Amino acid sequence: MKKKTIKFFAVDSKADIWRCTICNLQMYGSSKATHICAVYTLAELKKYAKQLGVRGDWHEPDEQSVTAVVKGKTFDNANLSGGNIGGEKFVIIKQNGKPVFKINLAMLFAYATGYDEEMLVRKVA
Ligand SMILES: [Zn+2]
Repeated sequence: MKKKTIKFFAVDSKADIWRCTICNLQMYGSSKATHICAVYTLAELKKYAKQLGVRGDWHEPDEQSVTAVVKGKTFDNANLSGGNIGGEKFVIIKQNGKPVFKINLAMLFAYATGYDEEMLVRKVA
């Protein structure tokens, strides 16, 4: 798997605030070294699944050396519009022991039960 190089651009260089060019997450400079890209849409999740080489039904992801770790404190809000994941539970997907992306756990359940943000956008529009 080709690893994406994470780059950041300065939102406010004096305040040391940066934004990831891949996932658009905003952070302080001290967080850049440990940054893991966040997934906020079903389309992004599908793109990462393809990158990992897992099956469409995610059967036996360990055969692609893919593992998952759940972190966070509260099974609270789904992250529907992006932003900081904060203390909410999230899943870090790793391949060959290295973090590939993270996704809010409630958001993951929303997708598993058929939520599609494109449908919501069409309903509201
Ligand atoms: Zn990122």
